[in-house]
Amino acid sequence: MLTAIVGINWGDEGKGRMVDLLSRDYKTIVRYQGGNNAGHTVIVDGKKYIMNLLPSGILREDTVNVLGNGMVIDPTHLCMEIERIREAGINITPAHLKISSQATLCLSYHKLLDCLEEERLGDKKFGSTRRGIAPVYADKYMKKTLRFADLLHEDTLFEKVKNIVEWKNLTIKAYGHEPIRPEDIMEELKTYGYPLRPYITDTGAYLREKADNGESILFEAQLGALRDIDFGIYPFTSSSNNISAYAPVGAGVPDRKLDQVVGIIKAYSSCVGEGPFTCELKDAVGDRIREAGAEYGAATGRPRRVGGFDVVASRYGTKVQGATCLALTKLDVLDDFDEIPVCVAYELNGKRIDYFPTGDDLDNAKPVYEYFKGWKTSTSDCKKKEDLPKEAIEYVDFIEKVCGCPIRYISVSAEREKCIKVF
Ligand code: GDP
Ligand code: MG
Repeated sequence: MLTAIVGINWGDEGKGRMVDLLSRDYKTIVRYQGGNNAGHTVIVDGKKYIMNLLPSGILREDTVNVLGNGMVIDPTHLCMEIERIREAGINITPAHLKISSQATLCLSYHKLLDCLEEERLGDKKFGSTRRGIAPVYADKYMKKTLRFADLLHEDTLFEKVKNIVEWKNLTIKAYGHEPIRPEDIMEELKTYGYPLRPYITDTGAYLREKADNGESILFEAQLGALRDIDFGIYPFTSSSNNISAYAPVGAGVPDRKLDQVVGIIKAYSSCVGEGPFTCELKDAVGDRIREAGAEYGAATGRPRRVGGFDVVASRYGTKVQGATCLALTKLDVLDDFDEIPVCVAYELNGKRIDYFPTGDDLDNAKPVYEYFKGWKTSTSDCKKKEDLPKEAIEYVDFIEKVCGCPIRYISVSAEREKCIKVF
């Protein structure tokens, strides 16, 4: 079984939480795009872990976790993250973690350029996490980055670094910043890249062999459909394709088809950073949702923008993800609300629309809100769908209907086991 776990909305839907739960049925978990701008929170036995680069399966010691070729990996951050997980008592070895030899290295000058550009933009900034993700993906497509395989060839590495630095300095100097030195980048690679060498492997070949032996593989996405570089709210997207269709490519097995796509969808909306967010509630209701849902970024601590469940965006997200089922998360966050706000449609130029617009049309769209009756009871101890209060069941059924996809899981707490399976 090849299964992808992907976000239906703007990210932070609880993918990490669902990967952690579902990974008990999978031995291999792969991240296939993005970098350490991801923040996946997993809570096990009351202990909190935040993963940025490592797949959320890493917390189970009998799993093999793969960082795929579609990723951009900051070795400094990865070393720190491995250390953090080790300190929590989880052993990480090359048997437990594998890095694609074709994955791209995200280095200090990518972070530098990310900061320089955000500062140049001033008020018009994108709200980048400043972790170098856009600059490193741009360089990847300019074919001017190092890949992990390069770390295995010390004899040619300095020459490669020198060529890249010479080219990169043209831009860095244009920002009025002092040029970077190839020796410093070499130092960075020696300190943080070299210790990762035992983990570097042909992960595509590894995964193909597992799949051929009938083993199940879980593909873990970062962010959500609305942040996909092609299908999201461009240019306020991430810099990679996070949709499930990219999973086999970014993981290293482009010849394989997914059997299952689990779309993670949140019971309300949240969005980090700038860009159009039609359903946004900037009022007291929004503040209540933010507090109840603890909507502060896992990677950055920034308060997230929030809104009611967005029917238009979620239906679109479900479609572009090709979700075969949905996992609805954070239903419990709405437990105390008298009324639950739902953005049921958009209004564009005075007309009601139910398709997800793009470009200026998206910027100009206004939300159409309706209100569902709340259930005002705690749902966190419900074990079956039938245990949920009547109004909550109606709400879940409504989301299933408007998205046109069955809801197979209902998460009612951040705790690993507090998730209802719907049969
Ligand atoms: P991801 O980026 O999609 O992995 O999501 P994040 O980890 O950034 O954000 C989801 C947050 O919600 C995390 O803090 C989770 O611990 C928490 N969470 C996940 N599922 C639930 C749930 O069903 N109920 C509640 N209350 N919290 C949840
Ligand atoms: Mg997150």
